[in-house]
Amino acid sequence: MASLDTRLQNILGDRTAQVLEKSFGMTTVNELLRHYPRRYVVRGELTDISKLLADDEVTILAQIEAVNLRRANGKNILEVVVTDGSANLSLTFFNQAWREKDLKAGRVGLFAGKVGVFKGKRQLSHPDYQLIPDGDDVDAAVAEFAGKFLPVYPATAKLPSWKVMQCVKLALDSLDELPDYLPAEIAEKYKYPNLKKAFADIHQPPDLDSAENARQRLTFDEALLLQLLLGQRRNEIVKLSTKSRTPNTPVLVAAFEKRLPFKYTAGQVEVNAEIEKDLSNKYPMHRLLQGEVGSGKTVVALRAMLSVVDSSGQAALLAPTEVLAQQHFRTITKLLGELAQSGTLQGGAIGTQVELLTGSLPAASKKAIHAKLASGETGIVIGTHALISDGVAFDDLGLVVVDEQHRFGVEQRDALRMKAKQPPHLLVMTATPIPRTVAMTIFGDLDISTLRELPSGRVAITTHLIPVLEKPHFLNRAWERVKEEAAKGHQIYIVAPRIANPNKKLTEREMVAAQLLGEEYLDNEQMSAVEELAPELAKGALKGLKIAMLHGRQSSEVKEQTMSAFAKGEIDVLIATTVIEVGVDVANASMMVIMDADRFGVSQLHQLRGRVGRGSVPGLCLLVSNAQEDSQSMTRLAAVAATLDGFELARLDLEQRKEGDVLGSSQSGGRSHLRLLRVLRDEDLIERAREAALKILATDPEINHFPQLKNEVEKLQSDEAARFMDKS
Ligand code: ADP
Ligand code: MG
Repeated sequence: MASLDTRLQNILGDRTAQVLEKSFGMTTVNELLRHYPRRYVVRGELTDISKLLADDEVTILAQIEAVNLRRANGKNILEVVVTDGSANLSLTFFNQAWREKDLKAGRVGLFAGKVGVFKGKRQLSHPDYQLIPDGDDVDAAVAEFAGKFLPVYPATAKLPSWKVMQCVKLALDSLDELPDYLPAEIAEKYKYPNLKKAFADIHQPPDLDSAENARQRLTFDEALLLQLLLGQRRNEIVKLSTKSRTPNTPVLVAAFEKRLPFKYTAGQVEVNAEIEKDLSNKYPMHRLLQGEVGSGKTVVALRAMLSVVDSSGQAALLAPTEVLAQQHFRTITKLLGELAQSGTLQGGAIGTQVELLTGSLPAASKKAIHAKLASGETGIVIGTHALISDGVAFDDLGLVVVDEQHRFGVEQRDALRMKAKQPPHLLVMTATPIPRTVAMTIFGDLDISTLRELPSGRVAITTHLIPVLEKPHFLNRAWERVKEEAAKGHQIYIVAPRIANPNKKLTEREMVAAQLLGEEYLDNEQMSAVEELAPELAKGALKGLKIAMLHGRQSSEVKEQTMSAFAKGEIDVLIATTVIEVGVDVANASMMVIMDADRFGVSQLHQLRGRVGRGSVPGLCLLVSNAQEDSQSMTRLAAVAATLDGFELARLDLEQRKEGDVLGSSQSGGRSHLRLLRVLRDEDLIERAREAALKILATDPEINHFPQLKNEVEKLQSDEAARFMDKS
């Protein structure tokens, strides 16, 4: 008999075990049993083909109706038509004529792939498939391995779903009674099946309710382990000791607030207080500050930095790009005025020095800044990765602020923190609104502050769609609007998805080759590109306006020059890639045109348009798209146009992303412990698990009362998925 730790070769034999290891990296019964079905297909019921949508990943049960082999462009093309009795779908295989001997008319099978559209017809290109064994007694053959519900597994060519089903069946049959790590009290409370039954029910469900209940139990397990791990991590942080940063005389903070040209919003007041409280603790702050673009995070962070300087420490602000670091530097020195000029003639009695440290500085300037950081002369430093480099040492680093944290790995965050003599306080800022449960899952070891309101006086942004296919004249009107804005003295961003297009169109032959190689742009589509758009508009629709380009292939000098010229109003129209996505703040910019807007994610569009309407000028954003009017893409764009609520859009974005994207790709990979958990779908479960985890940790921080559970948490700790989540 087998346990969860039994090696697969002991029950499946060497050959099969090898294939499983090669295909999915699994070596134990536990790993095999946690290779869960994606879905179930009801035996005997063919899938309704008329309901399949383009771009969906599907697995269908269907019958082969016709098979046709032809030659085109020097390739053998095998076309297989499958049917559910009324609607048809075609499957195509290039240069795989040998499949003809399996794929015979009349046979029934599972076919899996992404629904594409070719010449107006839906098709699966190179689908995975699994034919139901042929013979007199098909049903009996199927029933030998599964009941009415056929599990559909993530599969590979070597190891189709069918074969996985057989392996799982052998594993389940040889399994002993299993010890269950889930505390009995919790299992009873939620009427969860025990572990063994959960495995049986998810792989061989007697009915779909049992499958669902098993899925819930196994998902809850994942959520619980994760919450226990994160909870323990929070406890670890509290155990660290650091200097509390309560300024004895908050002179700098007071002088700064006296200078501020506005009053804090209620949200800012609240968050300022939260941070002040954190900084006064003798263990490091570990806080995430989220808020829409323009909600006033930078001001809050600056205040925190100043209070650390007031307590004679130093603060560092880490930005993901050079453009952003420069931007922060400008904003912060402007807000501080003479307070940032200490030690110079302009400086007053109180103040500090603020430095910008980026990779592109000449070595001598870097050295000079390094010296001032080491001596403590510089109170606030703003920079990119250059802050992490070897030469940088601090006199007394008390606070690290990380902007746009999702772009940094935890290693980088930590590398900077290591430069402090005791663990510094940490404030992470993000403008990507994160739904609560996602935050709880991904950033569960951070406390969270949220700025929900925008400072008053901010004018809203209006967003309109320009569906070029239906209403081409709208685009001309858009360029007219650009000229009108420029004539009013305002500035305009035009955003394109690419810097440049590949320089030629593919021939049909090359497209077939691309398809065979599984390359991305099969559709031969050209997209708006900065380097094409700029000269075109300069000569055409926007003739006479001062136009400049900004994109990632330019040197940082060029980027900096362009940004500062734009900030000064010397440029009317900035044609850019998403380099302007985060943080760029030019109050006079009133309009943004986003070309091929369907190429961007929902949250990204929202971030982008946050660049306009930042001053007293109302913002206008136009989303230009060639997508079909009733397509999914257009619906998505319409949703962006309809709301300015970043949290709602973040939800929408997450819902549309593929599984795995949220927690990182390693989640869907081999040994990860987090297979079922989906942050949005499982919100209730996550809440439930968090509650249970907090309850356990409150009385038993080491989880000593539940040794098996403790063991599982330790396994998760060492799991690569957990490490990835730290990085995300
Ligand atoms: P974020 O970093 O969240 O994008 P910022 O802190 O950069 O936001 O603030 C955006 C703009 O709003 C800046 O120009 C800033 O000076 C201004 N601002 C910040 N707080 C307020 C406030 N309470 N009232 C008015 N304007 C504010
Ligand atoms: Mg900002």
